[in-house]
Amino acid sequence: MTQSKQNLIGLSKQQLRELAVSLGEKAFRGDQMFRWIYHDQVQSIDEMTNISAAFREVLKQHTAITPLTIDKKQVSDHDGTIKFLFALDDELKIESVLIPPSDVQEIAEDMRRLTLCISSQVGCPADCKFCATGTMGFYRNLTVGEIIGQVIEAQRHAPRRISNIVYMGMGEPMLNYDNVMNSIDIIGDDEGIGISPRRITVSTVGYVKKIKQMADEGSKAKLAISIHTLDDELRTRIMPINRKHNVEELLESARYYWRKTRQRVTFEYIFFDGLNDTERDIKMLKKLSGKVPCKLNIIPFHPIYLPENSEMKDTFRSPDSEALQRFVERLRNECDFPVMLRSSSGIDIDGACGQLAVKEDEVV
Ligand code: SF4
Repeated sequence: MTQSKQNLIGLSKQQLRELAVSLGEKAFRGDQMFRWIYHDQVQSIDEMTNISAAFREVLKQHTAITPLTIDKKQVSDHDGTIKFLFALDDELKIESVLIPPSDVQEIAEDMRRLTLCISSQVGCPADCKFCATGTMGFYRNLTVGEIIGQVIEAQRHAPRRISNIVYMGMGEPMLNYDNVMNSIDIIGDDEGIGISPRRITVSTVGYVKKIKQMADEGSKAKLAISIHTLDDELRTRIMPINRKHNVEELLESARYYWRKTRQRVTFEYIFFDGLNDTERDIKMLKKLSGKVPCKLNIIPFHPIYLPENSEMKDTFRSPDSEALQRFVERLRNECDFPVMLRSSSGIDIDGACGQLAVKEDEVV
């Protein structure tokens, strides 16, 4: 049965070479398979036409190309964002969101940009208080195949080629580090999915050891840090990770990343009404420039599902657009790093940042 066969999606080039050899073929067959699976994204082993019919039969006895199953697909009337709900083999569910450029700024940056936001875990243990995924609890890490499977399946439903990948869906990528990095190797390989690592962003709430590991390993992928405030007390209240690694430690790891990779770090800042929008916040943000070469993305908070008994339910409010504009303008005038105002794409289908959570009745 297909179920018990090894899924080829998720295997690295080296693993495919080893597989070919273990089945009595030359190692280079693994390279050919790698290209068929990821670059050409064939749906069956029979489509691998430069591999002999005899070896294809052997492969079919032991392996299969098993895509992720789409459980639900929603398209936003508002901006064309597409949200996918995938069912995994153990019946857990995850989400990915395909986001076209949605505002003038993004269109000016790159008209053909099509970004896929992917999940790295089912649920998330980091428990950020404003995040819908955090309310789900943690189930498990995704395999490399489940991470790559999101890209392959979303591409089949995309209006054009996916140009950018962001690990900002469900889960904290740094807590599934090896599988995330192995998936980046496949996505970023020209013979694989072929999206340049410069167009792949890994987002973290601040696991500093992993940030440093990523820098030490010379990863070409970009790093985004969800900072949201530079005030330790507030950050600890809304992001428990801050108890483990405070703001100074986090900024130090960002500096380390810059020194090693010479890549600017992007700080993500969800803007909450009445929480991180004061004069003092502006002052603290201005000081970032002396600390680490960076870019700042401001994202307006939007309402999410939080359980009735959440002690933070009333803490998080959406900003009014004038206050948001004033804040962004001040930062643009006073900071010497780029400040972007990001829209909340897919807001009508719960597909925006911090909204990816499989509803309780949908998770299994
Ligand atoms: S914001 Fe990211 S790290 Fe925090 S709970 Fe949500 S998914 Fe996890």
